[in-house]
Amino acid sequence: MNKIILVVHGGAGTITKQSMTPEKEKAYTEGLTVALEAGYKILKNRGSSLDAVSAAVVTLEDNPLFNAGKGSVFTSEGKNEMDASIMDGKTRKAGAVASVNTIKNPIKAARLVMDKSPHVLMTGKGAIRFAQENGLEIVDSSYFHTDFRYDQWQKSIKHDKIQLDHSGDKDPKGWLKTETEKKFGTVGAVALDANGNLAAATSTGGMTNKKWGRIGDSPIIGAGTYANNNTCAVSCTGHGEYFIRDVVAYDISALMEYKKLSLKDAAEEVVMKKLVTDGGEGGIIAVDKDGNYTMTFNSEGMYRGVITADGKVWVGIYK
Ligand code: ASP
Repeated sequence: MNKIILVVHGGAGTITKQSMTPEKEKAYTEGLTVALEAGYKILKNRGSSLDAVSAAVVTLEDNPLFNAGKGSVFTSEGKNEMDASIMDGKTRKAGAVASVNTIKNPIKAARLVMDKSPHVLMTGKGAIRFAQENGLEIVDSSYFHTDFRYDQWQKSIKHDKIQLDHSGDKDPKGWLKTETEKKFGTVGAVALDANGNLAAATSTGGMTNKKWGRIGDSPIIGAGTYANNNTCAVSCTGHGEYFIRDVVAYDISALMEYKKLSLKDAAEEVVMKKLVTDGGEGGIIAVDKDGNYTMTFNSEGMYRGVITADGKVWVGIYK
C-alpha cells in the first residue's frame, strides 16, 4: 500500500499568536482536525484521493469559521459568491465553479462539473442549474450569511476597500481593528491515496467587498489548484490576482517536472521568491507523488494541518 497522506489549509494571512484567544485557537484547530479525519477515513479504507479532498473540504465549507461555503465573505453588493475547484492527478481532469450563490457545497459542484460535464469551469446561473439538475443541495442565499462577515463587509465598504480576507497588517487606514478580521480564509486539501493517485481541491468566498463578478485564483486550474500524478497536488490561498498571474500551482508542478526540483524547493521558489517579488501574499499546501508534503507561506501565518499514514494529526497556525 502506498504511503497515504492528506494536508489541509484554512487560509493564510496576518495570523499572530498575540491576536488570538485560546478559544478561537481551539475552534480553528478543531475545524482543521475534523477535516483531516474526514479525509483520512476515506484514504485509510483505500478510497480515492479525490473523495478524500472533497470530504475534507466539505467539512470546512460547512464550518462558518472559514471563508468558504457557510461563512463566506461579502461582495461589494452585499452578497456571498463562491468559487471552488478540484483536480484529479491521475487523469488530469478538473472541474470548477465560480460566482455561485446558492449551492450549499461548491466543491461538490466542482466535482460534478469534472465527472458529469464536458467542461472544466462553469459560472453563476449555469453552474447552479447544472448542480441542481444533478441533485446537489440548493439553499437560499441567506444560508451563507453570518453576522461576523457582514460586519466585516460594512467596515470594508466604509473605506471602499477590497479586502483580502486576512491581510490586517496591510491596512494603511487601520480600519481592521479586531483580531478575527485579520485571519481566516479560503480552504483547501491535497492528498495521496493508497493507489498512488494525487488530488487537490480548493473552495472560497473570495475577497471581502470584491466587485462585479470578480473571480479569484481558487477556481482557476493551474493558479489556485493543480494535481498531476507525475509531480504533485497543490492548493493555494492568498491574494488571488497574484496567484493567477504567477500561475502558482502549476508553476510548482512545472519546476518539478521540467527542472527536477524537489517539492520543497519548487514551493520555496514560487511562494518565497516569485510571489514575494511580485507582492503576492499567501501560501500553499502540496503533496508529491512520494508522499512528501509542504505547507509554504510568505504571510504571518496559515491555518494548516496534516494527517499521515499512521493517523497522526498535526495542526499549525503560526510561522
Ligand atoms: N485566494 C482567494 C481569492 O483571491 C482568497 C483567499 O485565499 O483567502 O479569492
